[in-house]
Amino acid sequence: MRLGIVKINFASALDFLYICRMRKNIIMRELYITNSLSRKKELFKPINEGHVGLYVCGPTVYGDAHLGHARPGVTYDVFVKLLRHLGYKVRYVRNITDVGHLEHDADEGEDKIAKKARLEQLEPMEVAQACTLRYHEAMRELNVAPPSIEPRASGHIMEQIAIVKKIIDAGYAYESNGSIYFDVMKYDRDHKYGILSGRTLDEVKEGTRELDGQQDKRASYDFALWKKASPEHIMRWPSPWSDGFPGWHLECSAMSEKYLGKEFDIHGGGMDLLFPHHECEIAQNTASRGTGGVRYWMHNNMITIEGKKMGKSLGNFITLPELFAGTHPKLAQAYSPMTVRFFILQAHYRGTLDFSNEALQAAEKGLKRILQAVKDLKELASAAGVTSTAKGTDGHDAGNLAYGEFLTSTAPEEGSITATSKEIKDIVENTYAALCDDLNTPIALSHIFDAVRLINSAKDKKLKLSKEDLQALVALFDNIVYGVLGLKDEENGGGKAAKTIDGLMHMVIEQRKAAKAAKDWATSDRIRDELKAIGIQIKDTKDGIEWTLD
Ligand SMILES: [Zn+2]
Repeated sequence: MRLGIVKINFASALDFLYICRMRKNIIMRELYITNSLSRKKELFKPINEGHVGLYVCGPTVYGDAHLGHARPGVTYDVFVKLLRHLGYKVRYVRNITDVGHLEHDADEGEDKIAKKARLEQLEPMEVAQACTLRYHEAMRELNVAPPSIEPRASGHIMEQIAIVKKIIDAGYAYESNGSIYFDVMKYDRDHKYGILSGRTLDEVKEGTRELDGQQDKRASYDFALWKKASPEHIMRWPSPWSDGFPGWHLECSAMSEKYLGKEFDIHGGGMDLLFPHHECEIAQNTASRGTGGVRYWMHNNMITIEGKKMGKSLGNFITLPELFAGTHPKLAQAYSPMTVRFFILQAHYRGTLDFSNEALQAAEKGLKRILQAVKDLKELASAAGVTSTAKGTDGHDAGNLAYGEFLTSTAPEEGSITATSKEIKDIVENTYAALCDDLNTPIALSHIFDAVRLINSAKDKKLKLSKEDLQALVALFDNIVYGVLGLKDEENGGGKAAKTIDGLMHMVIEQRKAAKAAKDWATSDRIRDELKAIGIQIKDTKDGIEWTLD
């Protein structure tokens, strides 16, 4: 018994310490997010104070990561970094869909991964694994930090079967030839189907095509929870109803409940998933556990290419490796991962974002201006004896400084405030206000550009920045530009393509050196001129040869 008492005391002491720590670090700033469920901007209130459970639909892994993956990747990465910076402890779950996602998002047709495996004569899991690794690589290049948990649909078949059983027991699903379908009409009578998309059942019916092979369903809008596998179908698991596989919508109900509980804070994903995928998730959750399960639904808008939807048949389907290397015919040049990240942040996540070479080139220029200002700021700061507050700027440890600490470290002393200090204070405040107003990154960036303007004036000696001003600006760039927005320096473009260019440049420079050593001036000059013609400047300095891209 004594042991028991000691244990309780120890635990409560830890609790006490934890609460003290939380109180010290968290100055909770009001955060507003647009909830797709209410179609309104709402004040975010977590279920458990100081904690956020976030689930985001991840990629279906059957090809290279493309532009369409970059937007949710970057958007929710910035959102998580902001939450952590504000002092929340975040459990971020982003799944990998490696089974059940059929062609055209329909209930019939071939599994997307199995089809790729058949075409390439691979095991489906080989396709899923290779594509998952390539997706991770692309996200890493974009400086998107990995989620807290990355569950795979194929690793959660048991949990999915358990949910199907619960839905059948509740009377909202029926068996037909070994497959199980969700009874949308019955559910609609009791709970109302369509609360997320705002569609009535009649509207849903109108929008659902009667496809061949759907004879098993009672109604066209019913959706599959479990599909009996045809003899040639490779990805299959035993179940009480048939050897088969789960319906696509089911995995997210199963994995979000398993890792975040019956009810959790935020569910995110692309707007293309709002209907039917997320609508079906709500119906499945309600039918199996009596609650829709999610407090706030967040949806990022799509990327269009020169005003058109991206699609393989339109010839405008650009993968991220192609974008970073500039190898797609639509691309005028290679765009570095940070340029792409910056381009995404220049639009509000709920607005459309149109890709064009002009827009990417403008983003490249804007990013360059910010990163140059960071360099100038660091020089001004180090000359004034101000050091960086950041613990790390690799973007994987966002929220270098908790928001509360940040405010106290940058607050100017009472009475000593100059017009410039006041301006900097306003810039900091406005940047936070924008980020906390439904993650308004374009407005936040416009305030960052105000800071860039001040830094440029200080560099040109048109403005004097005090030590405190410099301290505040360094903290703003460390915490927001590097920390929350996750931008980082890219020497000569960054990423895999840049590494390749670097290697090639090394070779070319060595050849020019050899030509010079042999007094072969014609070759040496030709190399320099040909590089210049493709936009590469080389300069002989006392430290060796330097090269820059125009
Ligand atoms: Zn999902």
